[in-house]
Amino acid sequence: MCKITPIIVMIEDDLPIRRFLRTSLSTQGFLVHEAETGKQGLVEAGVRKPDLIILDLGLPDMDGVEVIRAIRAWSTVPIIVLSARNGEQQKIDALDAGADDYLTKPFGFGQLMARIRVAMRHANRTQEANQNDVFQTAHLKLDWLNRIVSIDDREVHLTPIQYRLLTVLVKHAGKVLTHQQILKEVWGPSYKENAHYLRIYMSQLRQKLEADPTQPKLLLTESGVGYRLKV
Ligand code: CA
Repeated sequence: MCKITPIIVMIEDDLPIRRFLRTSLSTQGFLVHEAETGKQGLVEAGVRKPDLIILDLGLPDMDGVEVIRAIRAWSTVPIIVLSARNGEQQKIDALDAGADDYLTKPFGFGQLMARIRVAMRHANRTQEANQNDVFQTAHLKLDWLNRIVSIDDREVHLTPIQYRLLTVLVKHAGKVLTHQQILKEVWGPSYKENAHYLRIYMSQLRQKLEADPTQPKLLLTESGVGYRLKV
């Protein structure tokens, strides 16, 4: 079987980071195209038809969030952003603009590879556009057809809102979702400001799904940003 080399466009003005990532990603079998400005990055993203984009948010010519908005106008390609420490609001803006995930500098290459795998798997699933009948992790099982949720084969009863919250997280399994994104999907745009709803329902969901709700293993908190369902 012939395997197609996956293409990554990397938009990053820091040369040492670019060199390090280019070398490491190449040994993992990726073809890497580089850009050092936002404008160049947009050209590369259009010309190379990448399978994934790695984007530094601090670029010399453009705000990285603007780069994401420009790409999202015509493409659903997975975007992983690299951000500076203490850039919580920037991460949230990037995710709300359509980034798939983020890494805070400095990060390990293993972390980046894990995020790349999740983002690409998620992209493939979205392309297939048909949900599997059953979603399953080590402990959680969600039967879409019959709307049955179980933990270790024990059925769990959820209220309609708890169920909807879980399905939103499952649909984006592995990916971090901002509070705003979850609120909008579960309660609709008019509830976007009511973050306390989300805290309450997330805590209820953890009570029902986690072995120890104070040490969640499935419904993870992304501090200051949102939540992620671990796969
Ligand atoms: Ca930079």
